[in-house]
Amino acid sequence: MRKNDDVMKNVLEECSHAKTIAIGGHIRPDGDCVGSCMGLYLYLKKTLPGVTVDVFLEKPRDIFNCIQNVDLIKNAEEYKEHTPYDVFFVLDCNLDRLGASKEIFDKAKKRVNIDHHISNTGCGDVNYIMPQASSTSELIYDLTDSRFYDIEIAKALYIGIIHDTGVFQYSNTSQSTLQAAGQLISYGFDFPKLIDETFFEKTYIQNQILGRALLESILFMDGKCIASVIDKKGMDFYGVTSADLDGIVNQLRYTKGVDCAIFLYEVEPLCYKVSLRSGGLVDVASVAQYFDGGGHVRAAGCTMNGTSYDVINNLSNQIAKQLENNES
Ligand code: 5GP
Ligand code: MN
Repeated sequence: MRKNDDVMKNVLEECSHAKTIAIGGHIRPDGDCVGSCMGLYLYLKKTLPGVTVDVFLEKPRDIFNCIQNVDLIKNAEEYKEHTPYDVFFVLDCNLDRLGASKEIFDKAKKRVNIDHHISNTGCGDVNYIMPQASSTSELIYDLTDSRFYDIEIAKALYIGIIHDTGVFQYSNTSQSTLQAAGQLISYGFDFPKLIDETFFEKTYIQNQILGRALLESILFMDGKCIASVIDKKGMDFYGVTSADLDGIVNQLRYTKGVDCAIFLYEVEPLCYKVSLRSGGLVDVASVAQYFDGGGHVRAAGCTMNGTSYDVINNLSNQIAKQLENNES
């Protein structure tokens, strides 16, 4: 297995002689996951006519319907074909979050893993893991030839980049991110509308549950940490799903004086999905990894068992250790 293979210069080299290609990303796909998978899909369809290219993902949120061919995404659970794909691209994750397409990945003749998560150790025969990159979509931009782009490919990759950088706001935004974005908007799509409709716009219910999470949040560790919990009952009351809770943890983190924000929602009794955000003092990737999760230094997550008090206590212990180390 090769990690961070210098030889990998472009995705097409990895597809030479391939007649069938599959692309998969993580469960509960976010903007970068959908953008990178669909950007790569549209690029391969354009540059490799006659080759079968399939994307396997959980159904993306409706806000991503503006991406061309998103309706062609296949559900791995319903896929019954037994012929192995020649190449399988795993984007924006490792196997632990690949979900139902893992079986298809296992059978593939060649596996390629492209990701920017620092916690990813690489699951492919060829791996391109670049933790300094803003997004997997930026990596797809780097590994493709923009001379073959069109407005639809550009739009898909741009959506991925804006979602993982919080519209160029997070510290993962670099000169190369902005150069890529600059080139992508030159294809002429309506980017302010795209930013509004896929990133900032919330439904009334989403705003209500955000308000509830903010109202019930608690500050601790001298105001350096904030936590909030939404239990199953609360989610049922508002009629929301996990996708409606996106963005709550970021808003918590914007509280003055806070470095580390914790947001939990109940996935089943005594089991919580945890989202962590940091302003830079706490490395939340290592906190999440300690609890078998992962992510980035400033944005990470994991799933934990116990009551919400247990979960917050256990997370706080790890966070406190880091804050103490930073102070000493
Ligand atoms: P979010 O809090 O938005 O769900 O996730 C923040 C970041 O952490 C994302 O980059 C996401 O991919 C990663 N992440 C969230 N939950 C998990 C998890 O359970 N395992 C791993 N490996 N990464 C996660
Ligand atoms: Mn990503």
